[in-house]
Amino acid sequence: MPPKQAPEKQNYKRVWLLFLYFLILSAASFVFVHLLLPKPVVPITSPAASSTTATAAPDSAPVPTPAPADAALLPDGFVYVSDIIPDAQIDIRYYSAYNFVGTRIDGYEAPQAILTKEAALALKTASTILAKQGYGIKIFDAYRPLRAVDHFVSWSQDLTDTKMKAVFYPNLDKSALFNQGFIARKSGHSRGSTADLTLVHLISGQEVDMGSSFDFFGEISHHGTQLITNQQTQSRNILRDAMAAAGFAPYSKEWWHYCLQNEPYPDQYFDFVIR
Ligand SMILES: [Zn+2]
Repeated sequence: MPPKQAPEKQNYKRVWLLFLYFLILSAASFVFVHLLLPKPVVPITSPAASSTTATAAPDSAPVPTPAPADAALLPDGFVYVSDIIPDAQIDIRYYSAYNFVGTRIDGYEAPQAILTKEAALALKTASTILAKQGYGIKIFDAYRPLRAVDHFVSWSQDLTDTKMKAVFYPNLDKSALFNQGFIARKSGHSRGSTADLTLVHLISGQEVDMGSSFDFFGEISHHGTQLITNQQTQSRNILRDAMAAAGFAPYSKEWWHYCLQNEPYPDQYFDFVIR
């Protein structure tokens, strides 16, 4: 018969076995949790990244997408350009604050391009010609209510308000804008058959470089200026040729401005609000 171990010694052994048991158990759970379990997926957008995205300023003015408009609200003879040329980009600058005044202009209550039916159909012809060359169109302004022109006039009388001078007329005195023909007291746009537009690349949707931007008031915006590259002149000519083939006349001082030659209301100026 083996000598009976002392009870203290037996307890000591039990404690050791228990300790070893827990040690092995802990090691096993560590291996399971850290090495065998699949890693949780970390979200790609951290709060810092998403806040940067939300506040980052766009490179250029955003292009608002016009909401579907009710053509029945328009006076007879007028249409929404989007209904006639669905793929035309519409960026109505006088609806936004990104224009030479720096605020939304009176009469622009929606970012819509409205034209007489004749002008819109002619513009569609131009856009078809341009599409064959890989270009689309972007419209900055079309029909312009008389009250918008009145807004320009009252703005022009406050010579201290030069908020947007650096962008749109850095080399001109504000007082010269009317005298030099960049802004008219009575605009052809109010007759509904005049549009301001540029070319975009059909594939990317990006604006074509025309050498100066829409509503930049200066010699660089004139047709035939020597201040731009051959490539830029060529791009202006592509737009001008397509518009001419569709029946529009250019304006010598603004490469973006085109008026339908056989306009349906040559003597009528309209003042309905753009909605
Ligand atoms: Zn114009």
